[in-house]
Amino acid sequence: MAGEANIIITNGKVLTMSPHDQRAQAVAIVGQRIAAVGGEDCVAKLRGPNTRIIDARGCTVMPGFVESHMHLFPGAATLGQLSLEDVSGLDAFIAAARAYDSAHPGEHMLIGRQANYTMIGEKEPISRHHLDRAISHRPFAIVAPDAHTVWANTMALEMAGLLHGRNVGIGSEVVMGEDGLATGELREWGAMEPVFALSPTAGRDNLGLTSGRDPVPMPSPAERAADIGVLQKGLDYCARLGITSIHNMDGNLYQLELLDEIHKAGGLHCRVEIPFHLRPERSIDALEEASEMQRRFSSDMLHSGRVKIFMDGVLDSWTAFVLDGYPDRPETVGAPLFTADQFNAIVIDCDRRGLQISVHAIGDAAVRRTLDGYEAGRRTVGPRDSRHRIEHIEIIDPADIPRLRELGVIASMQPLHAAGSHCFPLEPTLTRIGPKMPFAYPWQTLRNAGTRMIFSSDWPVSPVDPMKSIKAALTRELLDPAYPDQRQTLMDTLASYTREGAYAEFMDDRKGQLKPGMLADMVVLTADIETTPPEEIDRIEVATTICDGRITFER
Ligand SMILES: [Zn+2]
Repeated sequence: MAGEANIIITNGKVLTMSPHDQRAQAVAIVGQRIAAVGGEDCVAKLRGPNTRIIDARGCTVMPGFVESHMHLFPGAATLGQLSLEDVSGLDAFIAAARAYDSAHPGEHMLIGRQANYTMIGEKEPISRHHLDRAISHRPFAIVAPDAHTVWANTMALEMAGLLHGRNVGIGSEVVMGEDGLATGELREWGAMEPVFALSPTAGRDNLGLTSGRDPVPMPSPAERAADIGVLQKGLDYCARLGITSIHNMDGNLYQLELLDEIHKAGGLHCRVEIPFHLRPERSIDALEEASEMQRRFSSDMLHSGRVKIFMDGVLDSWTAFVLDGYPDRPETVGAPLFTADQFNAIVIDCDRRGLQISVHAIGDAAVRRTLDGYEAGRRTVGPRDSRHRIEHIEIIDPADIPRLRELGVIASMQPLHAAGSHCFPLEPTLTRIGPKMPFAYPWQTLRNAGTRMIFSSDWPVSPVDPMKSIKAALTRELLDPAYPDQRQTLMDTLASYTREGAYAEFMDDRKGQLKPGMLADMVVLTADIETTPPEEIDRIEVATTICDGRITFER
């Protein structure tokens, strides 16, 4: 390729992430594409008077991170919210909440994040009374790390019309106390939505998750501008962490339109893929909206063409759909959101339309129902390059392990989600999983079975910084010596964050590796990741992020 390079990176330990493990020292970028990868001499001839030279100082240079499962709008909205990540005990909670309260006098509602289910005590469920003791004069709500439970104070419950209970739809629950009033615990989206409607973004950030629909009424120009500001903050935050591609997991047309506006203004600092979110209350005809989103948005920077579905909930609140009942509630098998017939019909329709599907499936029964559906689609419509995905797979029945490879299904896993990793305490998850622990968070087990695997954070469920996930993947503790070791190699982990992520969005011919002709998405790190001890990988930062041939972050 001829022409003067706009950027040349020299003196790097370049991981091309090609399947053949090729290495290099330098990369040259012409326009939006990679022009050369190799030794210093091979890029020198592309150097011109206007070429920007970046000295990597012997540090790792690699493809930009593909974040394969995150929630941009909700994640961006959490930037600046009260973090309860390291808070434990009532006194510490009250102190943290009050300090935040006095530092944010102007906001009409306060939200806390990363509140562990056992934050107050192992045996003491969080209630509105705990929140009232901290903040009672404004609506106040705190969100569990998995974002499937919210606890609200009395004022928030009252304003949201939930204090005296309410039917909030399939799979959701306003937990009621013996006094006939809501305890403050709100399970799943239907129960949380009325509380989020009180927040500064009026819940628009969560619409892609809750209903998958656009806001009603459509936001005013001022609200729209505020939402664009939130998304821009999120994109910039991701760029500073080396992320160049985002597979978003919540979706509606509204977000696509906002991102398109950001793109036209030159601010789209990561490529974004937005799905259509199909809720169980919608009919199958709603998939026409997914096809419409795919037709309207198909550029390398912003595209659609995937359907996101929740098959179940989460283990901690007994809403994950499990085969044999929960060890601590044997009569409960969780709450599947679709019957097998409903789901199979959706897969068949998506396969006919040429849409990709990604299903949130945490329990082993949810994973099986999803695989059965993918199989039904293949049987009815015939095999095609569908690249359907399953998100999370926290427990899998051993009989289903080989089926992912057989059906060409991609496993989308979150290294920071394993119980006992730095984000989540072991309990109560360990109790919910019980004897199935050997088949829980089965990263290496699935890899050994030939499954293609992609990694991500599920931001804001866990921190979006890829370095934290990489460390978690490499240092997973073995809870019992009899269990299979699920630790990942560095190269497999990095592949799941680059090349495989590109494959999952049908862009492996254009990105995910550093190769001449590919889109210029890459990062320069502040260390050599291969010689950094695994425990210290989360201390590595990003020195430079380049997306689409442009520098989107520089330290
Ligand atoms: Zn998610």
